[in-house]
Amino acid sequence: MNIPTLFNLTGHTALVTGSSRGIGRAIALGLAECGAKVAVHGTKPGKALDEALASVPRSIAVTGDLSDPEVPARLVAEVKPDILVANASIQIRKPWAEVTQAEAEQQMQVNFHATVRMIQAAVPAMRAKKWGRILTIGSVQQQRPHPDMIVYAASKSALENLVRNLAKQLGPDGITINNLAPGVILTDRNTAALSDEVYAARVRDMVPLRFFGESQDCVGAALLLCSDAGRYITGVDVRVDGGMGLP
Ligand code: NAP
Repeated sequence: MNIPTLFNLTGHTALVTGSSRGIGRAIALGLAECGAKVAVHGTKPGKALDEALASVPRSIAVTGDLSDPEVPARLVAEVKPDILVANASIQIRKPWAEVTQAEAEQQMQVNFHATVRMIQAAVPAMRAKKWGRILTIGSVQQQRPHPDMIVYAASKSALENLVRNLAKQLGPDGITINNLAPGVILTDRNTAALSDEVYAARVRDMVPLRFFGESQDCVGAALLLCSDAGRYITGVDVRVDGGMGLP
């Protein structure tokens, strides 16, 4: 057995949505270091996307707001990925009784419906090759929903359900689909909330390993699930959360 060969992604093309920053950028870099050609993605051109493009070898950049229903299929048509990492999400934090219909729809559109549309667009080419990797990015909120993020948390549980459903249907074509569920990972989205030291200490106490993760902590699991090293793994939910999602 040659372990590096199992992780070698030379000849493969990956689309990682929301890879201008954070966890997506780290996964994009990991895939590129394993040899894949990677499309980094952000909502629009700008400094973050330029930096991602510069830091990820051989990458190309694509843009588009996934709340626009036309964008998912367009991104897949531009990139033609055989590795799809549906990482982009939006998160609206407010008391459950105040969430508007528009806010609920926007979160479901970006976090769930856009993922379904990208999978629908990407699978025919993966089927033709008899090889494909789909990775959705969930959240510890599948297990521990935050009281002020009811729609976001539900959208992540919906992804995990989708993964179990599609794994059975895509398996015969050599396509695996899995969900990676991060816990608290230090990125732009939680910098403000965690700058409150009292709140941060309370959250840290909920993590059995007693520290917050970095984006790169998600990369090992992503590479396993996107390569031939993980060819016999499908339909699973891999928690990268320091144990926070444990019952
Ligand atoms: P982040 O740092 O907030 O970055 C978000 C990324 O998504 C950016 O690339 C952003 O592009 C893109 N994006 C935002 N809105 C979008 C839209 N409407 N359409 C298309 N792209 C959009 O995110 P992160 O913290 O790395 O999170 C990555 C994934 O992990 C998400 O699915 C998140 O739910 C999940 N997660 C994160 C944590 C955590 O603690 N960080 C915990 C659990 C789960 P721009 O640069 O153009 O804005």
